[in-house]
Amino acid sequence: MNVRNFSIIAHVDHGKSTLADRILERLGAMGERDKRDQTLDTLELERERGITIKSTPIRLVYRRENGEEYVFNLIDTPGHVDFNYEVSRSLAACEGVLLLVDASQGVEAQTIVNAYLAIDNNLEIIPVINKIDLPAADPEGAAKELEEVIGIPADGAVFASGKSGIGIPEILEAVVERIPAPPGDPQAPLKALIFDSFYDAYQGVILLVRVLEGTLKPKDEIRLMNAGKNFEVDKVGTFSPALVVGDSLPAGAVGWVAAGIKDIHDAQVGDTLTGSDNPTTEPFPGFKPAQPVVFSGLYPTDTEDYRKLRDALEKLKLNDAAFSFEPETSEALGFGFRCGFLGLLHAEIIQERLEREYDLDLIATAPAVVYRVTLTNGEIFETQNPAEFPTRDRITSVEEPYIKLSIMLPEDYVGPVMQLLQERRGSMITMNYMGKRVELLYEVPFGEILYDFHDRLKSISRGYASMDYEQIGYREGDLRKVDIMVNNEVIDALAVIVHETKTYSLGRKIVDKMAEVIPRQMFPVPVQAVIGAKIIARATVKAFRKDVLAKCYGGDISRKKKLLDKQKKGRARMKQFGTVEVPQEAFLAVLSTE
Ligand code: GDP
Ligand code: MG
Repeated sequence: MNVRNFSIIAHVDHGKSTLADRILERLGAMGERDKRDQTLDTLELERERGITIKSTPIRLVYRRENGEEYVFNLIDTPGHVDFNYEVSRSLAACEGVLLLVDASQGVEAQTIVNAYLAIDNNLEIIPVINKIDLPAADPEGAAKELEEVIGIPADGAVFASGKSGIGIPEILEAVVERIPAPPGDPQAPLKALIFDSFYDAYQGVILLVRVLEGTLKPKDEIRLMNAGKNFEVDKVGTFSPALVVGDSLPAGAVGWVAAGIKDIHDAQVGDTLTGSDNPTTEPFPGFKPAQPVVFSGLYPTDTEDYRKLRDALEKLKLNDAAFSFEPETSEALGFGFRCGFLGLLHAEIIQERLEREYDLDLIATAPAVVYRVTLTNGEIFETQNPAEFPTRDRITSVEEPYIKLSIMLPEDYVGPVMQLLQERRGSMITMNYMGKRVELLYEVPFGEILYDFHDRLKSISRGYASMDYEQIGYREGDLRKVDIMVNNEVIDALAVIVHETKTYSLGRKIVDKMAEVIPRQMFPVPVQAVIGAKIIARATVKAFRKDVLAKCYGGDISRKKKLLDKQKKGRARMKQFGTVEVPQEAFLAVLSTE
């Protein structure tokens, strides 16, 4: 059987899902299922947010005009920087990619990052200039930009529109002619790459694999090389995109494996699967265990919900090896969990799922990165919880994680964006001009982009700038812990870690925002930012009893009821401190845009 394994990569919104659906439709894969937009984006949240979180593959059959048949395995990749490692593993399962560029937008940050991931994996790149139906489209310009920026020859580009269907037959032919058939010997010792996994209540962990060598079949004794664990294969198969049971997966195939694996941490993305009797000599290179880099405390608003929250977290963890949690106690918030994520989007997704799918009301503390503190006694202490950050007198030095940040933007906005980066303690690596657009490469403390950076970048550049980043290790920094006091009491869960030069401005911002969102009381409530015993900023929640019903002149009952309901709802997400109620918003005051 002729096989082609490929993926579609693009900057967000350049039309990946639309084009994938057009291809599926053309190859008849939409017929058997109820046709709905964007088949590959399966999770409800994925469709709503317009991004892919899991790598969904689908097996398609393409028949050329001369009757030759090809199996196409189209692997959809996650579309966000939080999941770049998963993207790199999915690409490692392919021989080629369609690199989409929106003809009206040109090359953007994720276009470049994704193209380099493909180049690193030695993949054949088919440039597709998409959305050429748009009046503002400049297909030649976009193709030329690809050539200038990444060195992909413009004359190899296919002009297409996922919306109108222009160029789809040319794309399908290019996949056959330009992407190589997968190599590999079906008789060799088994070697397969795990590029994603999910949990199924009946079959346990389902591994998504690309077989590189040998043949994988039921009853095989397999070994996960990095995990160092053995299992027996129960079933194998392919994706329609629903799971279809098959007989075997030979070298070159993309498919799934069920092997009675109970714990998703035994089956991490990037691990290599081999036979336990006749193993391959080397695992597939580049394995990195999933490691959370952003942490936040999650607490039930209602303490009665603690168990329910724990059960929900367990369930989510079953499906997500990159997510971690452990019990945590806060003086202010009581019993909750310290949760680890791959990035802010990952954190938001998990919180949203807890609230929607598990019907939980949560208080989330501001996200924080992991700081490495050298104590005066020589010990090294890693902490992702600002409340635990040691006092100044116990610290010799602190290190914080850094990222390499790439920003693409029109030249008109370079000045203000460079100023923003300076405010965020960034230092420039290079600046590349490409026509009227510029790529800025910076090293920036990761903690500095957690707070409102992306929003500010977008607003400064009127939406034209795009960004991407990768972690590059730890650097020393002069960091301090700022505590927040409400009504003269420190609320541990509100503590933040801030660079020394910013303690005053950030303290100011937080107390002002808090004074704005904390409901007024019968008495004035002071809100203070403090470092140790020193008050650095102060604001007051003025005394006033807000009587919402006073606003309703006349006796419109339904309106009164609505207002009361609204007030009740708002209250559901508050925590009571003595007589003062602090809403969720206040916990994220540090994230608010100035
Ligand atoms: P993705 O984020 O790369 O998956 O992009 P989507 O496929 O979700 O498309 C983003 C937006 O562009 C949607 O509003 C689509 O309707 C629109 N779009 C996608 N392809 C085309 C196209 O070929 N032409 C036009 N005019 N719009 C398109
Ligand atoms: Mg999409």
